Amino acid sequence: SDIGSQKERVVTEEEWLQKWEMGNIGFHKEHGHPLLQKYLDVLLNGRTGLRIFFPLCGKAVEMKWLADMGHSVVGVEVSELAVKEFFSEHSLPYCEEPVPEISGAKMFQSTSGNISLYCCSIYDLSSSIVGKFDGVWDRGALVAVNPCDRQRYASLMINLVEKNSSYLLVTVSYDPNKHKGPPFYVPESEIRSLFG
Ligand code: SAH
Repeated sequence: SDIGSQKERVVTEEEWLQKWEMGNIGFHKEHGHPLLQKYLDVLLNGRTGLRIFFPLCGKAVEMKWLADMGHSVVGVEVSELAVKEFFSEHSLPYCEEPVPEISGAKMFQSTSGNISLYCCSIYDLSSSIVGKFDGVWDRGALVAVNPCDRQRYASLMINLVEKNSSYLLVTVSYDPNKHKGPPFYVPESEIRSLFG
């Protein structure tokens, strides 16, 4: 489990924006992720009306699923194109407004009010801006974060969750010398040290 070859790799925000522009988004799952269906009970734990956070959300269709179940969904995504595609592909009317605390950021909210997507870097967020969450769906998020930013990402996520929250994390396991990532290989030992 030598992750040496990926440790120094950096994917810039500009490169992510380009992936969206080019439609180079092989990570997007049109029919959603089977693991969310499988572990939905773990995420919800019998609770209703939760606040669920989608870090690095892309246009994940699972946001629509959870909103349709009556939960309130908040996502963050650097690509405005991704955010707009999400709303248009689900035929959801939305409004957009600036985020006073974050220069250049915009918040896109479904007219029904239960889906709010922040278009900015996740590192611009804090619990004073977005509040705290009861649940997190982390798929293509920790594994998409640059290895040098993992500690910062994990500390932020820990700050954004309530005490009794559930955090579903999807990772991928493979030989990191054979692919450069993302998705990056994050060994379980590292996940334990990041999240405690
Ligand atoms: N979670 C989504 C998308 C995974 S790909 C899914 O399951 O489909 C990772 C996404 O993170 C990309 O859409 C990319 O544009 C976005 N991203 C990368 N760095 C980011 C950052 N610092 N802040 C917010 N979004 C970011």
